[in-house]
Amino acid sequence: MKQFSRKQFLNRSIVLASTLSLLGGEWFLYAKDPEKVINVEPPEGLKPISENDPTAQALGFHQDAKNTDFILYPERKLPQSKNHVCNQCVQFTKLNDGWGKCNILQAGVVSTNGWCSAWSKKN
Ligand code: SF4
Repeated sequence: MKQFSRKQFLNRSIVLASTLSLLGGEWFLYAKDPEKVINVEPPEGLKPISENDPTAQALGFHQDAKNTDFILYPERKLPQSKNHVCNQCVQFTKLNDGWGKCNILQAGVVSTNGWCSAWSKKN
């Protein structure tokens, strides 16, 4: 078995601790703010639409499609639904790598990984 010097052990421990800290911090952000689903800021001056917006709620919208209510929308569990996200929706206009505008939900920007029941395939 390979032996590590004390210096190598410390270096690897620091790298591991930093990595875990970053991952843990990111997860904490997501857990604390469910609308912060991606690590890209919305374009300047624009805010993500709230999932509590009445229209968003009526359409079962979530900024992260994985948070869909699968009891209300069981079709979302089908394998072919995997790529049904805002980024692939005809109503979506990309603004940056993480966000875009939706023609239906106009109170804020939507995540590229979002979904609502009005989803329709982009041609
Ligand atoms: S209509 Fe399309 S782009 Fe708009 S929120 Fe629903 S899935 Fe996303």
